Amino acid sequence: MTYTIKDGCVQCDNCRPECPSGAIKTEPEGDNYWIDPTLCDGCEDAESPKCVEVCSIGALTPLQAKKGRCKSTLLPAAILDIFLNGKTNSFASSMVMWESCNVLAQRQALPWQADATGHLCYVRTVHRGRGEMRFRLAVNPEAPLPRPMKVDEGKAALGFFDIRATCLHLIFAAYATTVDCPWEDEFVINDQHIEQYLGLDKRKDLTKLDKLRLIKDLVYQACHLLVSLDWPRQGKVQPFSLVEHSVWELLHIQYYFEKDDQGYRHLIGLSFTVRTGIWAKYFLNKQDYRRQTAFYQYGILPQSLLFEVMSNWQQHEGAIRLLLWLLFKLRLGGDHRVTI
Ligand code: SF4
Ligand code: SF4
Repeated sequence: MTYTIKDGCVQCDNCRPECPSGAIKTEPEGDNYWIDPTLCDGCEDAESPKCVEVCSIGALTPLQAKKGRCKSTLLPAAILDIFLNGKTNSFASSMVMWESCNVLAQRQALPWQADATGHLCYVRTVHRGRGEMRFRLAVNPEAPLPRPMKVDEGKAALGFFDIRATCLHLIFAAYATTVDCPWEDEFVINDQHIEQYLGLDKRKDLTKLDKLRLIKDLVYQACHLLVSLDWPRQGKVQPFSLVEHSVWELLHIQYYFEKDDQGYRHLIGLSFTVRTGIWAKYFLNKQDYRRQTAFYQYGILPQSLLFEVMSNWQQHEGAIRLLLWLLFKLRLGGDHRVTI
């Protein structure tokens, strides 16, 4: 059960430090307190909600289910930016993208190790050992300079990841091909877009809050990836090294609430502002590709692949990993369909 703060909160701050989920937040402008319903689990492991125990005026209460449809006027537009033909879209398909997808698909199955500083690290050599990519996991993907997780923390986090996060990774990789300078230009994607790309809009068994929680969780997983790399000379492209950076920078999450007649605030939408990491300057750079000083590597992403991942992730994870591998190995055309 999720809790909410009703009118009358005196902003004493007793509750916020007590919340084990970090769900109690204050608005950036003003001091209003609110509970992030994508994080609040009602203190399911405790005898009673911690926030309720310390609030002396009883401002906290279980959130009642929302009745009726969400007011579309409060939500951002849901005009699709990718898959405009209903079938496919180009997507960034460089080795960095491929291996990031592999990390999200294989998770604990990969040979993670402790690096020299005690952080969890996965190293992938490239071009017969002449170069390498190093992956780590960010503690907080929303931090401007995310710091990597230590070994135990990282292993525990990987246990909560699931292969559906590859869908968000691929969607971001498709968005990256829609902007001129992806390492500079941000893009905004909202939950309604993601619902349609993943086929969640057809799921009647999930409440709106269930879908928002899932979407935010998968976005977070994809944005946990940090990469650093040393790349050898290839053709006219000179060797280069990149210090650790986010594969996807999660710049901002916007929450959309609607208040009902009884004063309950219901979360009705989310939007994510994302920017492609600096890797794109070397692997998804149209201008420098023409000068032959960088790469522009892209493939074709069938939307049907996302549906397959979302439908079969529990029963056929091995088959999904194979499909993801084929996506990067084969150059799929506009009419190809991938099915399990
Ligand atoms: S019920 Fe528990 S998890 Fe939810 S806001 Fe209160 S303290 Fe946090
Ligand atoms: S403890 Fe109660 S009054 Fe104090 S900030 Fe939290 S909800 Fe508001």
